[in-house]
Amino acid sequence: MAEQKQIILTGDRPTGRLHLGHYVGSLKRRVELQNSGKFDEINILIADDQALTDNADNPGKIRENIINVVLDYLSVGLDPEKTTICVQSALPALHALTFYYLNLVTTARLSRNPTVKAEIQMRGFADEGLPAGFFCYPVSQAADITAFDATVVPVGEDQLPMIEQTREIVEKFNKIYGETLVMPKAMIPENETQRRLPGVDGKAKMSKSLGNCIYLSDDAKTVKKQVNGKMFTDPQHLKIEDPGHTEGNVVFTYLDALCTDEHFGRYLSDYANLEEMKEHYRRGGLGDGTCKKFLISVLNETLDPIRTARAEWEKDIDTVYDIIRAGTLKAQETTNATLARVRKAMRINYFDDRAIVKEWDKMLKAAKQ
Ligand code: ATP
Ligand code: MG
Repeated sequence: MAEQKQIILTGDRPTGRLHLGHYVGSLKRRVELQNSGKFDEINILIADDQALTDNADNPGKIRENIINVVLDYLSVGLDPEKTTICVQSALPALHALTFYYLNLVTTARLSRNPTVKAEIQMRGFADEGLPAGFFCYPVSQAADITAFDATVVPVGEDQLPMIEQTREIVEKFNKIYGETLVMPKAMIPENETQRRLPGVDGKAKMSKSLGNCIYLSDDAKTVKKQVNGKMFTDPQHLKIEDPGHTEGNVVFTYLDALCTDEHFGRYLSDYANLEEMKEHYRRGGLGDGTCKKFLISVLNETLDPIRTARAEWEKDIDTVYDIIRAGTLKAQETTNATLARVRKAMRINYFDDRAIVKEWDKMLKAAKQ
C-alpha cells in the first residue's frame, strides 16, 4: 500500500471576525504547520453551513463574515499557494456524506457531546427548542474531515469531542463497508492556556457568540479599552503592596498564552521572564496597572503585523474572491472523489456502470426458478 499522505483539515465558522482565541488555539499553529513543509496538503474550510445550524434566521451575518474570516486567514500568514481555502456550502459532497454518516450514530451518542451540551445551554436552545441541524453538526464535521482524507486536525480543546465522534464514525463505516475512510487525529496546542483561551470577561472561553473577544483586527485603542475596562485581575489585590494571585487572574492567563522572554527585554526589563514577574505579583509590590500595560504591549506586538497585512488585503477584495473560488473548485474535486469512493464502498454507485443490470437480471431469473 502507498504510504499514507499527511493531510490537514481544519476550519472556522464564519459567525464573526476571528479573535485571539482562534489565533492561539489554532491559527498560529496552522501557519507553522503550513510553513513546516511536512504536510502533503493543507485544507481550510470556512464552515458556513455549520454556521447556519444556529443562525438560520440570519444568513446575512454568515455571508458578511465569510470575507472577514478569509481576510483574517490571509493576514496571519496563511498562504493560498500552500493552503487550500474553501467554502463549505459549495461542496455538495459534504452534504451527501453527512446524510450517510447520520445513520451510523445514535441520538443518545450525540446527546453526550459535552461541547454541544454547553453550546445548547449558551444559546438558550434548551428552552426555545433545539434545531436538529445544530444537534447533528458534529456529524457534518465528520463529513468535512473525512472528505479531505485528513490525518491531522489542528484545533482548540473544545473540538476534541468532535474528533472523537469522527473517529467513531470512521471505525463504524470501515467495519460495515470495508476500509474506505482515513482515521484522523486531533492536534491541540501544547501550551495549556492556548487550548482554551478565556474571554476578556474571564468566562471559560473567548467566543464570538459571547461577545468577550479581542479580535485580530481590533485597533490598538480597542485593545487598550478591552484590557483596562473589562479584564479583572485578583479582586483581593487591592493595594500594590498586597500579595496577589496569578491563578485565575485573566491578565496572567493571557500572558501565559502569549508572552515570551523577549517581550520582557523589550517592555518590562525588571524581569527576565513571566515566572519572575508572577513571583513578584504573588509577593506583593507589583501593581495591576503595570501588568496590564505590559499585556497591552505584548498584544499590540502580536497584532500589529496582522493589522497591517489586513489593511493591504482589504484593498484587493477581487483577488481575495479569486483565492477562495479557486480553493473551492479544487476542494470540489477532492471531496467529490471521496464521495464516489464512499458510494462505491456502500454499493450505491448505481450509475457508475451498468453492472447492476446484470445483477438484477440474475436475481429476477433466480426468483422464477
Ligand atoms: P462560535 O461562537 O460561532 O462557535 P467560536 O469563537 O467558538 O465561534 P469556532 O469557529 O467555533 O469559533 O472555532 C474555530 C476554531 O478555533 C476551533 O478549532 C476552536 O477550537 C478554536 N477556538 C475557538 N475559540 C477558542 C478559544 N477561546 N481558545 C482556543 N481555541 C479556540
Ligand atoms: Mg465554536
